[in-house]
Amino acid sequence: MASNPYEVEHGIKPSAPRQTRRPDMSSFHSALHELLPEPSSSSSNRNVGPTPDALRSLFTLVLDQMTALRNQAPAGVDTELLQGLIEELVVDREHPDMKGFLTQDDLDALDRVPKKQLKQGELCPICTEAFLDDPYPLVVVLPCSDERIDPATGLTIHVKHEKHRFDLECVGPWLLSKGSCPMCRQDVNAEKKRKEIGNQERKKANAVDDEDEQDIVDGLYG
Ligand SMILES: [Zn+2]
Ligand SMILES: [Zn+2]
Repeated sequence: MASNPYEVEHGIKPSAPRQTRRPDMSSFHSALHELLPEPSSSSSNRNVGPTPDALRSLFTLVLDQMTALRNQAPAGVDTELLQGLIEELVVDREHPDMKGFLTQDDLDALDRVPKKQLKQGELCPICTEAFLDDPYPLVVVLPCSDERIDPATGLTIHVKHEKHRFDLECVGPWLLSKGSCPMCRQDVNAEKKRKEIGNQERKKANAVDDEDEQDIVDGLYG
């Protein structure tokens, strides 16, 4: 890096960018833009997927990014999750099949985790860096959950996977091409659809019976 003469003369240390292994999404997005049809939030356009060749390029792009992250990981860092993602992407690249990709709108709609809810030392599972190393962490929690029967009411409740949190920059490329949670592989949009259907059913039920218990359950666990 060329030194700034002013900084050298005045003995000022050049301002070095913060060392981070987090991927730079800008190059990914410009490449993605060329591969995918115009993004649209309308459901009629959602099924217009890219060609198999474009898909292969997309998976290669994400694969390269994940491989770079794994290769840059310091010794002793657990890269098992990353290794699993890489192996899956290798298969996807050979047999491209757009099953559950998310759109940019879907990414924008993911729940953000406020900085004060991030714990000291809590790591992003993908880049394995501490969320709080970043002064302005942009962390999302995915909507995946476990289905359980509430013993008190006998009703089905969904317990959210609170630990399935990622830097948006790290999980974005995977979600845009795969659409599943990197940790539990639940379809992120399936969760969204389930919620939408649940809301519609609840509205119908409420129209019949205003005292619907489901609302109380959601108030406690939702
Ligand atoms: Zn990360
Ligand atoms: Zn998950």
